[in-house]
Amino acid sequence: LNRPNIVILGAGYGGIMTASKLQKKLSADDANITLVNKHSYHYQTTWLHENAAGTLHHDRTRMEVNSVIDTNKINFVQEAVTGIDPENKKVSLENGELSYDYLVIGLGFEAATFGIQGLLENAFTINDINSARLIRQHIEYNFAKYNNEKDKKQERLNLVVGGAGFTGIEFVGELANRVPELCKEYDVPRENVRIINVEAAPTALPGFDPELVEYAMNSLEARGVEFKIGAMIKEVTADKLVYEQDEEIEEVPTNTVVWAAGVRGNKLVEDAGFESNRGRTPVREDLRPNGYDDVFIVGDCALVMNEETERPYPPTAQIAIQEAEHTAENMKRIVQGNDHLEPFTPNIQGTVASLGNNDAMGVIFDDKKIYGWSATAMKKIIDNRYLLKLGGVGLVLKKGKLNFFK
Ligand code: FAD
Ligand code: NAD
Repeated sequence: LNRPNIVILGAGYGGIMTASKLQKKLSADDANITLVNKHSYHYQTTWLHENAAGTLHHDRTRMEVNSVIDTNKINFVQEAVTGIDPENKKVSLENGELSYDYLVIGLGFEAATFGIQGLLENAFTINDINSARLIRQHIEYNFAKYNNEKDKKQERLNLVVGGAGFTGIEFVGELANRVPELCKEYDVPRENVRIINVEAAPTALPGFDPELVEYAMNSLEARGVEFKIGAMIKEVTADKLVYEQDEEIEEVPTNTVVWAAGVRGNKLVEDAGFESNRGRTPVREDLRPNGYDDVFIVGDCALVMNEETERPYPPTAQIAIQEAEHTAENMKRIVQGNDHLEPFTPNIQGTVASLGNNDAMGVIFDDKKIYGWSATAMKKIIDNRYLLKLGGVGLVLKKGKLNFFK
């Protein structure tokens, strides 16, 4: 091919890292590279729970795409993708169309709502900057409204989080720190506010190290988080959440349900006709879906099997970044006429979860457990390392988490 057209969809971890690596590996004469994203900015999805709780401003989380890619080598198109047609090698956009020779799909995740009644209409999800900002404002509005009503409504102060997976746990950790500030700001007694985390499985963080789970729950309970474990959310309305626990149906009056109970790949990928397994597309070992040699899928839209456990790898930023780096290398080979593509194996370096800004826990180097300050510091190091990879020291200084004592 003469200067192939490479189109990358999505500027999340997977998309922007593919672009960032490709711009270093290829010259402008090698390929025509286009990156498409619906916003002008890239955001760090892994910080969105902080934006949603109001503990970190969303401008810290996002950065203009053009500030981190080389616009002499990458053509950035700010557009929403509306469809992918792999048979005709075309991508439709809200205002136009693009043709490609090679496509990299990095369109990320959506909430999986499992058809639960009223969830789509009444619950909030932490998906992107807009949805995180909405949650922050909604919570603040309810605090403000509380003291302006004659009949004080408890549902305004009951904050319910669905799912105690990593997102749910990290989010209630932020809420536990934010609520005392909100109480001061809006003259609301702390004891009037409830933070309730509802989890269907018999434990929080199912599948994770039990000792660390206990540590996390103790830390959060000490700051006022209530857990409902073995409690399956059944329905959400504008002013209540319904769950089933021990075969009993229970209700919590609430205006605020944040659904953090599962994700799936972007629906556009399934709609394009690629195979789909619970919303993610199984890919071959070089990250191409079956039957398409000109398409790569990275990040949460891709389903990569862990041969050891015979289960899919979880959708994480850590893996999305590695897939992107790997895909850039394979794309370079293709462009340079080498058709031997390297197989991808994730290199899991650990899992560290924050429990608010002053506590965390996790596992690193296979089996070393860390807690408290060292885990909080490690989480910041992981985040800063990503920024360093993406934009060098300048970006770390601008957006990084540099205060290791707060
Ligand atoms: P994303 O990062 O979601 O990026 C997708 C991009 O595509 C976005 O920029 C979006 O704007 C764009 N896009 C979407 N639709 C369209 C469209 N139609 N047209 C154009 N552009 C579009 N993982 C970890 O490894 N460690 C963590 O600590 C961690 N913490 C997390 C905390 C939270 C609150 C959440 C929600 C997730 C966390 N994860 C973490 C998981 C991690 O964020 C995801 O696995 C990761 O973001 C996936 O990367 P991605 O590139 O596939 O998608
Ligand atoms: P998840 O699928 O990991 O967890 C969802 C939780 O919701 C599960 O515990 C599930 O049992 C529960 N649930 C499902 N349906 C329910 C219902 N009806 N009622 C009550 N509970 C219900 O989803 P997530 O936490 O959003 O995480 C998504 C991905 O992002 C995962 O791969 C995770 O590892 C990753 N992540 C990682 C970190 C980190 O490493 N620090 C932080 C956040 C997210």
